[in-house]
Amino acid sequence: MQFRDLKAQYQALKKDIDKAIFEVVTDCNFISGKQVEELEKELADYTGMKHCITCANGTDALSMMMMAWNIKAGDAVFVPDFTFFSSGEIVSFAGATPVFYDVCRDTFNADAQSLERAIEAVRKEGKLIPKAIVVVDLFGQPADYPNLRKIADKYDLLLLEDGAQGFGGMIAERRACSFGDAATTSFFPAKPLGCYGDGGAVFTNDDDTADYLRSIRIHGKGDFKYDNVRIGWNSRLDTLQAAVLKVKFKALIDYELTAINRVANMYNVSLNGIVTTPTVKEGFYSSWAQYTIQLPDKKTRDELQSVLRAEDIPSMIYYPKPMHKQLAFSGLNIYEECPVTVALCDTVLSLPIHPYMEEKDIEKVCQCIKDVNNKSTP
Ligand SMILES: *Cc1c(COP(=O)(O)O)cnc(C)c1O
Repeated sequence: MQFRDLKAQYQALKKDIDKAIFEVVTDCNFISGKQVEELEKELADYTGMKHCITCANGTDALSMMMMAWNIKAGDAVFVPDFTFFSSGEIVSFAGATPVFYDVCRDTFNADAQSLERAIEAVRKEGKLIPKAIVVVDLFGQPADYPNLRKIADKYDLLLLEDGAQGFGGMIAERRACSFGDAATTSFFPAKPLGCYGDGGAVFTNDDDTADYLRSIRIHGKGDFKYDNVRIGWNSRLDTLQAAVLKVKFKALIDYELTAINRVANMYNVSLNGIVTTPTVKEGFYSSWAQYTIQLPDKKTRDELQSVLRAEDIPSMIYYPKPMHKQLAFSGLNIYEECPVTVALCDTVLSLPIHPYMEEKDIEKVCQCIKDVNNKSTP
């Protein structure tokens, strides 16, 4: 059994993907080919954003927004404690200070009250200038943007949606990667929309920001390639990746999102009352980057994982360590305690999920969890 079956996806899309790759290789248009611009247009239209600017990976996408907003030493950027390292790394990389806030136990996403306490604590101390909030759409579900937007506005902070795991999600009819002052995503192969290597994108409605990003991703170019008006870097999406993404994007919206939601539903029904299943809020739609259950404690979680492993069922712990406990962040001031994150790191377990998962495999995973549960509750 695969955790995320990219081989099954390739078999389903083989004809179109082979053709798309063949076309790029035949044209030898490896950098900035027409597929890149076509993809950007399709993704911008889908998210309802004016601009999509692709780049080399999701981390660069976040970093480029730090540059675009001139975030620097002395600035505070608020980051969830429960997320992938990138979300906080890019703040320190820009020279600014990440300030961690806690998440909600049921959705794994930003806890608005904890965020507000963190902002107040930084203001009260008066050493750092609060500039921006990073919000993550963890495991595929958009965070509670209607509430988070109010906090951003109240404190006059920029809101950056890290939609690396959230592409394809929705709140009502509004799509993920449209909720921040800018949003980013990642095309890492295992993300909801993944390519065959690294890739990423920024989404914005602001024309100046879009122009700036299109310049810095190609060495700070001006009117043409050998006109350099600022210091930039080299962060482009390969034509090959764009060609693959165009095929995979179509599959995602045609049927993959529906299929993966069906898998999640089957898990929900089968595991109801056995373990804590993930909560998708009323009116929210998840693209299920992960299907993550919670167990009562670390011992139960770790034991379940070894039983699954013995049955050849892959599972992952996303994430085993809070951001504030990462060695790379040691020495940072703690402005807000994050007890929910600390607890989640000991109790979460992500199960295999992908749009091509067969019913018998879902049943096998659930049966294994039920057997373990029956043994431990006499
Ligand atoms: C994957 C991920 C990133 C980074 O994306 P890369 O393309 O791997 O650089 C950033 N934030 C979150 C939440 C992610 O899951």
